[in-house]
Amino acid sequence: MKIAVIKPSLFGERSRDALNPLLFAILKPLTPANVELLFYDENIEELPESLSCNAAAVTIDTFTARRGYILAQRLRAKGIKVIMGGCHATFCPEEVLRYADAVAIGEAEDTWGQIVADLCAGQLKPVYKSQNNADMSQIEYDYSVFKGKRYNPLGFVQFSRGCKFRCDFCSIHAFYGDSIRTRPAELVADSIRNTPQKLLFFSDDNLFASKEQTDALLKAVKPLKKRWVCQISMDAAQDKELLLRMAQSGCIMVIVGFESLNRENLKLMGKSANLKSDYRSAINNIHSAGIMIYATFVIGYDADTKETAAQLVKFAAEHSFAVANFNPLIPTPGTRLYERLKSENRLLFDTWWNDPEYKYGDTAFVPKGMKPEELAEACKAARFEFYSPRCIFKRLRGANSRGLFRLFIYLLVNFVSRSEIHHKQGRRLGE
Ligand code: SF4
Repeated sequence: MKIAVIKPSLFGERSRDALNPLLFAILKPLTPANVELLFYDENIEELPESLSCNAAAVTIDTFTARRGYILAQRLRAKGIKVIMGGCHATFCPEEVLRYADAVAIGEAEDTWGQIVADLCAGQLKPVYKSQNNADMSQIEYDYSVFKGKRYNPLGFVQFSRGCKFRCDFCSIHAFYGDSIRTRPAELVADSIRNTPQKLLFFSDDNLFASKEQTDALLKAVKPLKKRWVCQISMDAAQDKELLLRMAQSGCIMVIVGFESLNRENLKLMGKSANLKSDYRSAINNIHSAGIMIYATFVIGYDADTKETAAQLVKFAAEHSFAVANFNPLIPTPGTRLYERLKSENRLLFDTWWNDPEYKYGDTAFVPKGMKPEELAEACKAARFEFYSPRCIFKRLRGANSRGLFRLFIYLLVNFVSRSEIHHKQGRRLGE
């Protein structure tokens, strides 16, 4: 039995900001030795014209769903069984079953073995549903699956799954539920020892599951002398001591969801940690610890106007954020936002992610404070301005990018982001 594990890309093309899909490393140890797995990530390689396999497991998020469906149709026409999983498959299983022979809902740990066994026995079922309760101390990661694949020089590790918050536009809580699970810090340290890259990315949606566990992690990681990047919530940015310990254990950049400068928007988002925080002291704390800031903003909430995006760029540039995303608000299935906008009849597409008319950067709903086209244009202009060479060099001085290694990372991330933004904007998904 040969199974191709496929990660589709947005447009079926390679991209320069591809990150190692941790799923590949997780599936390998879950697969019996007599079953061969072939891994393909369209973000870094083309799928072979004549893919030789019995089945294909295609993992999709909402943005890559349409491309995944195109591939699934091609593969099934050749007699290859297709199983689809990933967060989009979890939230839209009925839609997925129109394109695939089977759908895997939720985590892979308790479903993949059964899927493979059923495939081997010729008895594939249409639906496999995870309990989403995998014991993280038992999960193995086989990083050898990335050998020979040309990803960015970034190693991937996982410490936790889930998030203690429940933001309106985010599907993490709907995917993992209330439980936050962590791996023992020593096991994470072992994974890091097996990772050849000098720079690591914690794939956790929020590294701060709990203070005690994060402290244990920082202690275990410090002696390994790696540099790393992670995502944190705003409450962690208020804790000067914690940020200092992070920096001492190798953290060089944190991804923080600032999302909005407007309190009414933050209330609508359910961003409790942001509402309790003072952004200026959070920024000072992070920068004083010697850490670079990667900020995310979401634009299009009800209090936003067509001027908001430009104000956010000004704020991000003034505070020398090393990186920033200016995302138009996107209603993705599985979020409270999606249900709310749907109930208010504000969705512009039935399924924007699978609509041939939808283009990357388009607005998928009716904003209150501007027209949909104005939101799309404002976000595009914000992205282009923030990643203009003038702004990249202006931010350089205050961004904590001292030293050759940090300077290299700063310039790399900025110029890759700039190139990807220009490349993706305005293109139809899947094509
Ligand atoms: S803090 Fe981040 S990961 Fe957690 S729910 Fe909010 S947006 Fe999602």
